[in-house]
Formats: sequence, structure tokens, C-alpha cells
Amino acid sequence: DVRVRMAPSPTGSPHVGLVRTALYNWAFARHHGGTFVFRIEDTDTARSTTESYDALLDLFRWLGLDWDEGPEVGGDVGPYRQSERSEIYRDVLGRLADSAYTYDCFCTTAEVDARRAESGSKIQGYDGFCRELTAEQRAAFEADGRLPVVRFRMPDGTIGWDDLVRGEVSFETRFVPDYALCRANGDPLYTLVNPVDDALMRITHVLRGEDLLSSTPRQLALFDALVALGVAQEVPAYGHLPYVMGQGNKKLSKRDPEANALGYRDEGYLPEGLLNYVALLGWSIAPDRDVFTLPEMVEAFDVRDVNPNPARFDLKKCDAINASHMRLLGLDDITHRALPFLQREGVVSDPVSDADARLLELAMPLVAERINKLAEAPAMLGFLFVDEADFALDPADAEKLLDAEGRRVVDAAHDALAPLGEWSTAAIQDALQAALVDGLGLKPRLAFGPVRVAITGKRVSPPLFESLELLGRERGLARLAAART
Ligand code: GLU
Repeated sequence: DVRVRMAPSPTGSPHVGLVRTALYNWAFARHHGGTFVFRIEDTDTARSTTESYDALLDLFRWLGLDWDEGPEVGGDVGPYRQSERSEIYRDVLGRLADSAYTYDCFCTTAEVDARRAESGSKIQGYDGFCRELTAEQRAAFEADGRLPVVRFRMPDGTIGWDDLVRGEVSFETRFVPDYALCRANGDPLYTLVNPVDDALMRITHVLRGEDLLSSTPRQLALFDALVALGVAQEVPAYGHLPYVMGQGNKKLSKRDPEANALGYRDEGYLPEGLLNYVALLGWSIAPDRDVFTLPEMVEAFDVRDVNPNPARFDLKKCDAINASHMRLLGLDDITHRALPFLQREGVVSDPVSDADARLLELAMPLVAERINKLAEAPAMLGFLFVDEADFALDPADAEKLLDAEGRRVVDAAHDALAPLGEWSTAAIQDALQAALVDGLGLKPRLAFGPVRVAITGKRVSPPLFESLELLGRERGLARLAAART
């Protein structure tokens, strides 16, 4: 049975690269009818925060990447927060030590550095000094008051694997020094807990970022020990997902604003739009096809098709893909999803009044095709919902379009609409066309631009005649009257 996991550390705000890692794991699990595990790697207590933990849960709930085991869901091999698994790690550490897979190391960094300088060795990391300590040496260190860290004894030779993304990869272990599994105070380190949990959670495939590639030989060596001790059943397959590059061909870093995964929610991207875009960072469903749904991805996803070359993050493309998904939504759906954004900006109240809900139902068809993100809805629709006393023109747009000539156009529009019998889109259009285009001889752009600013406050708005109809005769005429002077 396929069992995969995402294993983020709750430090800082979640990175968009994590969304890609999670998505590929999720799609892999769903494609194979397997299990998707959510594990929280919070052994680094100094850096882990509750806010970050909450943000992770919020993020994956918003994205709809549902997990089968993990926080708030439970499962047979929990707990799923490493901070709650200390007993387990202590036990495994004891078993590793009993079988001499590990040893106590008393060296300070300064001592290791000094020895390296003296020997001229180019190999970074620990030199194995404490591997075969005599009882006297050990006693001397202890008498010195030193506390040991526990190091894993790397085997000699070569460690290789068939990477699910990169094919054959191998490391000579003389370049992979013995590494620490816990701190001197006994706190377990990532190097220990990550493979131990993959073993105990019976993870079959590890798909994770390329930044972790160099830790894989160490983890594979530890896995062999865990298998020999009966802690692990089998060694998982590993696949390392390509780097995501941002501006200037540098790795997209936490500091780049587009790296902040929850920022997409707050800016009104659709989860399906973001997921679709992120899926393309290393994978594609077919040549020349960018837009697809999650079920289509699940059906098609094969990790062997992931491109090992760095992917380039392109916010413009992300926007375009999101816009395509906006077009796929039904009107009720888009209205429902836009509502919190309209409430956030105070365009409609929370809870929404019946009158506003009715107006929104009529207005949404005008903007649904014109907005690329939900957060664009308030600016487009605000003019319809605002109290007349609070209605204001965009100063720059007003200055440009409501000059003397513009005000003359608005005046003519007012006089053409005032006697209108039926206040409908078609009647409004006919009257304005007759008065401004035919009557004043203006090009449509010059005729309707000033009217648009007078009515909606802006140069960019929903369609003018429909907007006027929705606004109603009284408010429409009042705004024209106000703008003509
Ligand atoms: N906790 C690790 C990280 O956030 C994930 C390690 C892994 O996926 O193996 O980078």
C-alpha cells in the first residue's frame, strides 16, 4: 500500500514550495489509492510556533488537500506531532546505541575545526575522532564535565538509490561524515526523527524538495540500521522535487512576497487556481496544456514524469491560470466565494442583508468574467452598494475624464436619461447612444468614459448600461447631476 506524507516544520509562514511538495504527495497518494499522512516536524522547539502550526492547518484546509492521518484526524501510527513523540525517539536511540550503530561524541566544534586545519582535510563535518574512544579517554571527558552528543556511525562505501525524479544518485560515504542524532541535552534532531518517523509511519515513498537531497544518504544509512533492528519494515523510495526559482534566477526565498502561501488566499486566488499553477512547477499534464482540474491531475500524475530541472516561478502565469479557473466557476459559486472579500472591504455587511444579497445576485454576472481574483470584486462592485453620501469619484480618473468637455457629456447624458420611460439596460443604451454618439457626434469611448466615471467613480468598471440599470433611476440621475457641475 502506498503511504506518503508531508512533513513541514511549523516555523514562519508556509512557503509556496511546500504547497508543491504537498500537492505532489497528495496527488501521488490519490492516484494510487494510497494514504496521505500529515506529520508536523516540530522538534526544533526554539523555532516552532503555534501560529505557524495553525497556519499550516489553515493552508491545507483552504487548499482542500485532505489528509488521511495527522493532526485533528488521528490515525494508527500517531501522534503526528514530533514534539509528542519524545519517548519513541529515546527508545530508538537506546536500541541504536546498544547495537553500536551510534557512539557518544565529546568533541567541541573548535576541536574538530582545529584538527581539520592541521590535517588539511577538505572534507567538511565530523572526523570520527570519538568513534573508538577508550574507557580512559571517555572518563577524562566526563571528568571535564562534558556531555556527549550521539553520532551515527556512517558505513564505508557508496550509498545510492534510484531517485523517483532524478534517476540513479549516489554518494561516497567518505564525504558523508558521522552526524549527530541528538543534542547533548538529549533532544532528538531532525536527522533522527525524520527517518524514524518515516519508518514507524510505514512511509513507502518520500517526495520532497531537492534541498534535502544531501541528507538522503545519511537517512538511507540510518534506515538500514533501523531495518536491521526491526524498527523499519522497508526502506522508502525517495524522489527529490526540483528547486523553485524566483526573480533573478535565485531560489524563491521566504522573503519573496510571492513565496507566502497564505498570501494567495488573502489576495483572492482560488485554491484550484493556485494548485493548478503550482502543479506546473516541475510537471505538466500534456504538452500545450496548462489548465486542468485536480481530479484530472490525480488521474494523470506520475512522479516519474517530474522534471528534475529547476522550475521558474512566474506570478503572471499564476494569475492567468487563476483567471481560467474563475471562468470555470458557476455564478452562485463565485458569489459565495467573493462574499468574504466584499465583507472584508465593507462593501456588504456581515451577515449580508437580504437587499444586498439580491443586488449581489444581479451584479455578479456583470463582473464574474472581468475579475481574475476574488479580491478584485470589491473595487468593481463597491459603487453599487455604497451609501450615496459616501460615494466618491476616483480623483485621478475624475480629473482626466470629467474636464469641461467631460462634464458637458455627462450633462447631456443626464438630460437624455431623465425622461426615460422604462429604466432598462436596452432603453438606457439607446438613449445614450442617440444623445451622445449620434447627437454630439462623439466616438463611443469619448461618449461613455465620462458617464462611466460619474456613475461608477472609475474608468474601469462593470458594463455601463447594466450598471446604470442596477443602480436605479434615482441614484443614476443623482450621480450624473452631481458630476456635471
Ligand atoms: N521538515 C522538513 C522540512 O520542512 C521536511 C523533511 C522531509 O520532507 O523529509 O524541510
